[in-house]
Amino acid sequence: MSKVLIIGAGGVGTVAAHKIASVPEVFGDMMLASRTKSKCDAIAAAIGGNRIRTAQVDADHVPELAALIRSYRPDLVVNVALPYQDLTIMDACLETGVSYLDTANYEPKDEARFEYKWQWAYREKFKNAGLTAILGCGFDPGVTGVYTAYAAKHHFDEIQYLDIVDCNAGDHGHPFATNFNPEINIREVTQKGKYWENGKWLYTEPHEIHQPLHYPEIGPKESYVIYHEELESLVKNFPTLKRARFWMTFGQEYLTHLRVIRNIGMASIEPVMYRGMEIVPIQFLKAVLPDPADLGKNYRGWTSIGCRIRGLKNGREQTYYVYNNCSHEVAYRETGTQAVSYTTGVPVMIGAMMYMKGLWKKPGVFNVEEFDPDPFMEQLNIHGLPWKEQFDVHLEL
Ligand code: NDP
Repeated sequence: MSKVLIIGAGGVGTVAAHKIASVPEVFGDMMLASRTKSKCDAIAAAIGGNRIRTAQVDADHVPELAALIRSYRPDLVVNVALPYQDLTIMDACLETGVSYLDTANYEPKDEARFEYKWQWAYREKFKNAGLTAILGCGFDPGVTGVYTAYAAKHHFDEIQYLDIVDCNAGDHGHPFATNFNPEINIREVTQKGKYWENGKWLYTEPHEIHQPLHYPEIGPKESYVIYHEELESLVKNFPTLKRARFWMTFGQEYLTHLRVIRNIGMASIEPVMYRGMEIVPIQFLKAVLPDPADLGKNYRGWTSIGCRIRGLKNGREQTYYVYNNCSHEVAYRETGTQAVSYTTGVPVMIGAMMYMKGLWKKPGVFNVEEFDPDPFMEQLNIHGLPWKEQFDVHLEL
């Protein structure tokens, strides 16, 4: 009987738990553990049927994690806590001999920087232990890497230009809120832009490059080049790429709030003293912003995330656009969360399923595009994230 341990009971953990519980033929038993056990209990109650056990764990502490893993004995640990916990959870997996999956690459708490180097450094350890670590298995990173691998496998002899386009055309009714963990989200979108061109990284000021892009069934939305973590692994795994960029849509209102937050120092990760107590501005900001897990109820509209690719097939230039549109309202009806958590939690379940079925199982540490994309693409259509393809279209980029 396959057993899975999910760590983290936020928006993504909620969807991952719902989806894993919905496939009992693959996941015979599951446990949801997080820092605040009452959140795990509430998710378990919403799913019902005593399908899920719950536990409390501080995932910053390897001995605590290892004790929990030893007592539950899962086949796979799914990390949907925060990127800060990636390395401690990987260490606990190695100590207890269990495979690992996550959705976001490691970030040190005291440095606003994310890179795969820390997790790629675990390759030999996982390989020698005969364990699998699947990195970045949400939507972006995650499905975007699978889309790219699928395009390279089926539609191109050589992929040359990749633009990942991420549009959130939803409206949650708040003047400002982030769609996933505010601390991680604000750290991500306020950093300098960065993209790959002709064998090197080029840097821009935050949100310097932008243009309107047309999203299917949504229309034009101003889209901005930002750095996103999957670019690092994709340019390594697809060395024929001449250019790789990531575009995200932002509304003017959102950007104005971000600018003010940055200018007044509230995005800072440097601790300050307040009435004799040390506080980190961005962590305090998180405490006063709407909880992303609560946005779902009034969220209307769609997300649209995809890959626009140009390359060669049979000596001729070809374009290809593969994408998913996801409705916030439909996601909420099914899992009680908005589409950003939904589009991340569904691929978590599918990645875990790939591992359990032995389809994505090899010793070492891998990004999703290093596995066979076909069975994963098939499951996306079954579990709520159907994809569409367009061939030989104008990519705008
Ligand atoms: P939330 O902040 O909503 O949830 C995080 C959860 O992790 C909370 O339940 C929190 O506990 C728990 N947690 C935090 N620290 C610890 C710890 N030390 N020990 C145990 N539990 C801990 O975040 P999201 O659900 O929005 O995001 C989850 C992950 O998904 C993040 O890593 C995010 O970067 C990633 N993500 C990936 C995407 C993709 O497409 N690849 C897209 C969106 C998100 P508590 O409730 O007590 O605070």
